[in-house]
Amino acid sequence: MARGEPVRVAVDDVVQMRRPHPCGGFEWAITRVGSDIGMRCLTCGRRVMLPRARFEKRLKRVVGRPDAAGVDGQQ
Ligand SMILES: [Zn+2]
Repeated sequence: MARGEPVRVAVDDVVQMRRPHPCGGFEWAITRVGSDIGMRCLTCGRRVMLPRARFEKRLKRVVGRPDAAGVDGQQ
């Protein structure tokens, strides 16, 4: 992931974080995108909200997006 670029994520993207959730899960589905990022743990189903800056620091990579075309910039 290139440095200095804003992270592009969209609702329903699956992302992997640097540290596991206390439940042991690394993967999350994005539920909300804005100044805060909402996400749901795919392992235990818990939802959390993170300020975008903190989300970007914790993000390891975007694992997948169900609809690769046309997700950017749509709200
Ligand atoms: Zn969890």
